Amino acid sequence: GATIGILGGGQLGRMLSVAASRLGFACHIYEPGAHPPAGQVAAHVTTASYEDAEALTRFAESVDVITYEFENVPTQALDLLEGHCAIRPGREALRISQDRLTEKTFLQALGLKTAPFADIADLDGLTAALAEIGTPAILKSRRFGYDGKGQVRITDPSQVEEALAAMNGAPAILEGFVDFTHEVSVIAARGSHGDVACFDPGENVHRDGILHTTTVPARLSPNQRTDAVLLAANILNALEYIGVLGVELFVTPQGLIVNEIAPRVHNSGHWTQNGCAVDQFEQHIRAIAGWPLGDGSRHSNVVMENLIGDDIDRVVGLATQPDVSLHLYGKTEAKPGRKMGHFNRVTGPSRG
Ligand code: ATP
Ligand code: MG
Ligand code: MG
Repeated sequence: GATIGILGGGQLGRMLSVAASRLGFACHIYEPGAHPPAGQVAAHVTTASYEDAEALTRFAESVDVITYEFENVPTQALDLLEGHCAIRPGREALRISQDRLTEKTFLQALGLKTAPFADIADLDGLTAALAEIGTPAILKSRRFGYDGKGQVRITDPSQVEEALAAMNGAPAILEGFVDFTHEVSVIAARGSHGDVACFDPGENVHRDGILHTTTVPARLSPNQRTDAVLLAANILNALEYIGVLGVELFVTPQGLIVNEIAPRVHNSGHWTQNGCAVDQFEQHIRAIAGWPLGDGSRHSNVVMENLIGDDIDRVVGLATQPDVSLHLYGKTEAKPGRKMGHFNRVTGPSRG
């Protein structure tokens, strides 16, 4: 059988491995950290850094296609890997989504709406941009941010110095604050022949910067639903994308505004495990393996809730509830803010 190489051994890599294994593939995980969650379910694990050219080469030669569970794979490692084996989704999607400035510029060029933004080089630049964009605004590091890390809210011009200091010299962008009514996301897939399938948009609630729940169906009008799916397809096609992509959206009275994209399976798509015949993980494996995309239509309404840190203690009570499906990541230490698992509560059959 064929082997799928996955860069990153966290929970996303783990759930991709489970889906791949169901389709008859073996997985080889590449992960610098010890004891990765995906290592418990994958056939092969390489523990090595992204600077280890020899390990990268051996990994690439042992697999038939390479995918990834996170977008910050160093460029040099990708260059090396690509010399031996196809990487799906491709390099362009990674390049664009690794940097919020490149990402927002790309989205605007597609005709999609984003928050107003400005590249920030220094304090004078921040002061000028804030005068232009207004308060409230958010200063975000351009790279490496997740779960709301590397972000500072600015509510008054007097805060610019402190805000910039919090970036620790990292390149940053300033974003105008979007006055949204709620947040939704589209988990979208594109196959190797250009076929596109989107899962139903989910409605997302964040707590302390971390995704807390995703609910399907989301509160969207039929027009908004169509807009959301079409704009996701637009992004996939522009990137000639192969695989699953997450698109985070703000819902406003003026229409949908794109917050960010993630070139991978996405936390807000975990509901598909119990809401669809083919979930986001299988859809991603199908796409990168050159298979036809599967049936991702929603058969059930679902609320997905993350288990963060000590939330893991709730498992005992949740385990006895008949409408709850538990998905645990096999992490031993329940640190604050650490994603330990999630559960999907099926709230009823989909009514179309
Ligand atoms: P993720 O873990 O989803 O990758 P992240 O660290 O990349 O998160 P963002 O998605 O940029 O962060 O922001 C996190 C949350 O902060 C958003 O989901 C939204 O609730 C809020 N937020 C971010 N940018 C804005 C904005 N311009 N206007 C209003 N709210 C925002
Ligand atoms: Mg992000
Ligand atoms: Mg986000």
